[in-house]
Amino acid sequence: MLSVLFVEDDATIAMGVEYSLKQDGFQVSLAYRLEEARDLLKRQPFDLVLLDLGLPDGSGYELCKEIRAAGDTPIIMLSARDEEASIVLGLDLGADDYLTKPFRLRELISRMKAVLRRRGPLETSERSLTCGGVTVLTGQARVYKDGREVLLTALEYRLLLTLFLNQKRVLSRNQILSSIWDVDEDFVNDNTLTVYIKRLREKLEDDPQNPVIIKTVRGLGYQAGD
Ligand code: CA
Repeated sequence: MLSVLFVEDDATIAMGVEYSLKQDGFQVSLAYRLEEARDLLKRQPFDLVLLDLGLPDGSGYELCKEIRAAGDTPIIMLSARDEEASIVLGLDLGADDYLTKPFRLRELISRMKAVLRRRGPLETSERSLTCGGVTVLTGQARVYKDGREVLLTALEYRLLLTLFLNQKRVLSRNQILSSIWDVDEDFVNDNTLTVYIKRLREKLEDDPQNPVIIKTVRGLGYQAGD
């Protein structure tokens, strides 16, 4: 059974989500404050952490940093703040995904399953996919730019892999969204994909303002390669 730590100070949300996750076969531990979450994390490993940002004794960002410093436990951040800056900060601190409140339970569970699945190997057979000086080794899930390894989050990797597996083809935003999140497109904040594309370009392109690896095809979507 997969264990989930849910850090949330709103008791109504906490209990509602706890109930649904248990119905779905997860084992759930609740923490209302950062301090309780830290205690629980010391006592047992979790398969996934759901992390609210505004907590009575501090910010979820702090705990995210601590969890990342200690290992690669998947983290999904939950917050009412949907500005691009706070999404970017959460992802920079190592969160795997970010969900804005209010969210639908079915969406949360789909995202959790997607994050857990991404932690496993996407493609076990070794393939080397190259485009514009960037190489993806699928068996090891590693990415290199001009021979140097580039570190990507699980979601960035999945996005890049989707584009590289479909090189020279234009992928619509919806095709990309359903491939990386595996949920109905209307669940996903359109902003989120834009943020991820921007982050990938910053990590991979020589000039992120004039991308040559991940191109925008106006009105249609995105394309890797010519
Ligand atoms: Ca809160």
